[in-house]
Amino acid sequence: MAEAVHLAYLAAAVLFIVGIMRLRQPATARSGNLVAAAGMLLALAVTATQISYGNMPFILPAVAVGAAVGAGAGRRVRMTAMPQMVALFNGMGGGAAGLVAFGEIWRGLAQGGALPLPALVTGLVTVLIGGVSLSGSLLAFAKLQEIMTGRPILFAGQSALNALLLAAGLAAGVDVAATSGHGALLVLLAAVALALGVGVVLPVGGADMPVIISLLNALTGLAASATGFVLANALLIVAGALVGASGTILTLLMARAMNRSLANVLFAGVGSVRAGGTGAAEGSVHPTNAEDVATLLAYAQRVVIVPGYGLAVARAQQEAKDLMVALEARGVDVKFGIHPVAGRMPGHMNVLLAEADVPYDRLYEMERINPEFERTDVALVVGANDVTNPAARTRPDSPIYGMPILDVDRARTVVVLKRSMAPGFAGIDNELYLRDNCRMLFGDAKASLAALLQALKEVDG
Ligand code: NDP
Repeated sequence: MAEAVHLAYLAAAVLFIVGIMRLRQPATARSGNLVAAAGMLLALAVTATQISYGNMPFILPAVAVGAAVGAGAGRRVRMTAMPQMVALFNGMGGGAAGLVAFGEIWRGLAQGGALPLPALVTGLVTVLIGGVSLSGSLLAFAKLQEIMTGRPILFAGQSALNALLLAAGLAAGVDVAATSGHGALLVLLAAVALALGVGVVLPVGGADMPVIISLLNALTGLAASATGFVLANALLIVAGALVGASGTILTLLMARAMNRSLANVLFAGVGSVRAGGTGAAEGSVHPTNAEDVATLLAYAQRVVIVPGYGLAVARAQQEAKDLMVALEARGVDVKFGIHPVAGRMPGHMNVLLAEADVPYDRLYEMERINPEFERTDVALVVGANDVTNPAARTRPDSPIYGMPILDVDRARTVVVLKRSMAPGFAGIDNELYLRDNCRMLFGDAKASLAALLQALKEVDG
């Protein structure tokens, strides 16, 4: 029986890895998700055979409630609200890992130190990491859901307080490990971990939220993996390590995409002030209309469409694709330029455009599309803002200075589709809108694209 369980766990681990590998390509991502989900189903089913009947009345209702909430939320969540859902679910994972470890250690202490030292130490680490992940993720959820301000909250001595909390948590953990006693210190460790999670996420805000969510995700993976050691469960160790590793890689990739170090993301409080840098940008806004833009597009040779968060809000991906098709029918070369942090989650634009069946070969990552802007007749920016802000290149005092952007300003003409002059996620003004080669087509992106398509039909071939 034990061998069969181990084999089934091994099969589940293989399914997780194959699933993740398939997530690397848009064409195989959907099936990758299913493969990984099948692995999880297998893991759950096998684990269920290990549970004693006496515990079933507690576990089955909990599984039913969790499954119903997860399925309901997964179905209903809007794509733009995905980051906060990931934060919430991630916090639950970290909290669950921390609670399991807490329970095992508590039981061990009550029985006079029944846990072996390595399991006790990993359990204590899990309580610390799981607590940080739980409270940090809940705070990230509250920020992204706009239950509270999304801006960084900074106060004097913040880093020192966090360091003090960490030291207190470590001291409590060392005492519990050394004496195999003092349940009160275990409770203190859990409380300190929860406070530390809040302390770490408070000063992070604005555009840095996805990075911190990814980091918390990695922490949850580590906590789950450590719980695997406490419970001597190989699958939990492997699954947690996979989450920890992929979360760490994603964190580093996103930090690199914004040209920032992780320390800078965690401690710099970027986005705490609304600023576009010193010195007002010069120039004036040039509003335009659908007919003029349609003419511009119809006689262009090369057009690059740059989607951003506003495309997701307006749900205008189908219209964007229709515009691509209409322009291509006129012989125009059309590409989509994708910034790695456009939208509100990694891969957001790729997912939206895949929904509208935009062929993958029209999607160009930032590094590939940027050299093309010099030869582009029209850069059509659809609801993107921060990822096109030239202040990232030109203004050292701008909060987004150093973040690589899509160089749309280098195109012959830039047309921006948005509703107003309101800033984007980072809360800073965009000097692109005042440039001589920039035209503003104000309105909801879906309506503007529909109007463009209509106007295009009326332009002579
Ligand atoms: P931004 O948030 O910078 O800008 C989006 C723009 O879309 C707004 O200025 C808004 O202007 C416009 N908009 C909103 N609704 C509509 C609509 N219905 N029709 C037309 N326009 C609309 O988006 P970007 O994609 O340029 O940049 C993403 C930002 O989000 C970056 O700062 C990034 O760091 C951050 N972020 C990224 C995450 C990720 O992983 N991708 C996750 C979380 C944050 P107006 O109101 O005038 O219409």
